[in-house]
Amino acid sequence: MAAFAVADRAASARALRHGEMSLRTAAEMDAIERAGAAVAAALDAATAAVRAGTTTAELDRAARAALEAAGAEPTFVGYPNPNGGPAFPAAACVSVANEAVHGIPGARTLRAGELVKIDVGARVDGWCADAAVSVVVPGAERAEADAFVAAAWETLHAGIARMQPGCAWSDVAFAMQRMAFERGHGLVDGWHGHGIGRAAHEAPQAPSLVTPGLRERRDFTLLPGMVLAVEPILVMGARGTVDASGNATHVPVEVASDGWTVRAADGLVVAHVEHTVAVTRHGPRILTRRAGARAAADLVPNDGGCSRTG
Ligand code: MG
Repeated sequence: MAAFAVADRAASARALRHGEMSLRTAAEMDAIERAGAAVAAALDAATAAVRAGTTTAELDRAARAALEAAGAEPTFVGYPNPNGGPAFPAAACVSVANEAVHGIPGARTLRAGELVKIDVGARVDGWCADAAVSVVVPGAERAEADAFVAAAWETLHAGIARMQPGCAWSDVAFAMQRMAFERGHGLVDGWHGHGIGRAAHEAPQAPSLVTPGLRERRDFTLLPGMVLAVEPILVMGARGTVDASGNATHVPVEVASDGWTVRAADGLVVAHVEHTVAVTRHGPRILTRRAGARAAADLVPNDGGCSRTG
């Protein structure tokens, strides 16, 4: 689940100074990883249920059953709506086609070739993890959708590779934006990554592209012990660009009348992938690895630098 951006929210630097963000020990990272294993199992179960004719509610049921089997509590059920609407009613956010994040599972039926985004959060022994996958509904020509999903994972991992102690978050965001734009896609702003630990959403905000708001108010230096949910949202073929002052364009989205579903314009296709990642002295550590996932989804990159040109 993506955090809601609020422009005047306390900057991460201020959050750190004021103790709003915690640094986790190795044992605490292990605890978050146990929640991450439950999230991974739920994503695997929901992914296995994706087929044409299935409802989005069935994917949620599969995810919720896997969380229960793992002894994990779903963190999204009852999550308060920041705009004052109804709380989130399900264990998984299930978003289809032009829907980006926070889709409410229900009677919608999946169609072959559609791209469905499944996002799950879990708490185990008081520690939270959060991750998301994008899955192509089988049964139709899918080469373009598969390439798009691969680009989404490449984008996420380009960012994770920059999650080295001493790098700025803007270095991470820059790496994600560069990869997404090089692949010909656009990015959504306004819903983005976040700290995670005792709560599902903690400071700081961790956007996936470089904006004036990030550079001027929200940038922060990565320290060993930080744990962040990283979650780029890509729009197929939207061809993001960077303007003369170094700011990235983004694809506009809106919140649907249900108060939750964030969607791009009709006809656009959106991908969303997410991992919970710890910064360690030795580099990034993915805490939501899926045991059966393809290497592209779960590799641990470690390029050792913060460079925006290398
Ligand atoms: Mg999240």
